[in-house]
Amino acid sequence: SLAAAGEPTAVPVSDDWSVGGGRFTWIAGPCAVESEDQLALAAKEVRARGAQLLRGGAFKPRTSPYSFQGLGRDGLRMLGEVSAATGLPVVTEVVDPAQAETVAEVAQVLQIGARNAQNFALLREAALTGRAVLLKRGFGCTVQEWLHSAEYLLAAGNSRVLLCERGVRTFENSTRFTLDISAVSLVKRLSHLPVLVDPSHACGRSDLVAPLAAAAAVAGADGVMVDVHQDASTALCDGEQAITAEEFGALVDRTGRLLHSLGPDR
Ligand code: PEP
Repeated sequence: SLAAAGEPTAVPVSDDWSVGGGRFTWIAGPCAVESEDQLALAAKEVRARGAQLLRGGAFKPRTSPYSFQGLGRDGLRMLGEVSAATGLPVVTEVVDPAQAETVAEVAQVLQIGARNAQNFALLREAALTGRAVLLKRGFGCTVQEWLHSAEYLLAAGNSRVLLCERGVRTFENSTRFTLDISAVSLVKRLSHLPVLVDPSHACGRSDLVAPLAAAAAVAGADGVMVDVHQDASTALCDGEQAITAEEFGALVDRTGRLLHSLGPDR
């Protein structure tokens, strides 16, 4: 299989950054793009504190149809403008196969969300854009099912695939999902693809983001994606799990020291 173990792959996502290959990647930004000002501020703040990529959802796959659904095309436009202004490549979700090309005009990395991890038509269209694809693990998917989804992307001719563990559903409901840290170490052994971790969506609580990010780093993750919002109390999406830019900066510094102390043999 194309995803099988081998020399770890570094996946280029912009002219000057690759995910994997021994470097740790930080992806940060708001859960959802809410306004130009909100996004521009978040991008500036996370960039200054060490993020290499900006996240932000324009098309939001919400559990309830009555929750904020994202700004759609307007949000995409804002992502493009802020990316151009800051130089940060953008990671954003695509939810509709018919919109893959449109999203790919703005985003350097197309995100496939947990709820669409086995939407094979979407996987194929995302892969065919030629952009890097960040594949979240479905919260009901086994590791093998997740790797099969990655295989769909690779088999469509796109070798730039990033895996992202974001928690699975278990009997435990005191956190939103259960971060499967063992899957991170396991998939690093089963596949050559870079593995990222999203502690924000895994736990749904801002106070657990830092310890879970540290755990991800120790478990061998190639990077972490976190929700950052300057005023979580007003966030239109998942405010409970957002950390501030200052907290993000502290997390980057602390994790950097941790990685340094561990050396190359994580
Ligand atoms: C997200 O990262 O914006 C998101 C919706 O995550 P997930 O698909 O993992 O729930």
